[in-house]
Amino acid sequence: MVELNRENRSRFMKVKCPDCENEQVVFEKATTAVDCIVCGHLLTEPTGGKAMIKAEIVSTFE
Ligand SMILES: [Zn+2]
Repeated sequence: MVELNRENRSRFMKVKCPDCENEQVVFEKATTAVDCIVCGHLLTEPTGGKAMIKAEIVSTFE
């Protein structure tokens, strides 16, 4: 039950681009691919439910 709660709480994540170290906020359940706004590196890839994060997660918040 606790895990379910936590699952619902984190909605946004700050990720760091592995290529240029730009930090940007992405939606956890992004349904489209998100590219780094600086260099265009693919940061998240949509899957069935959650986005697959391809960058370093710096922090999560609601
Ligand atoms: Zn980048």
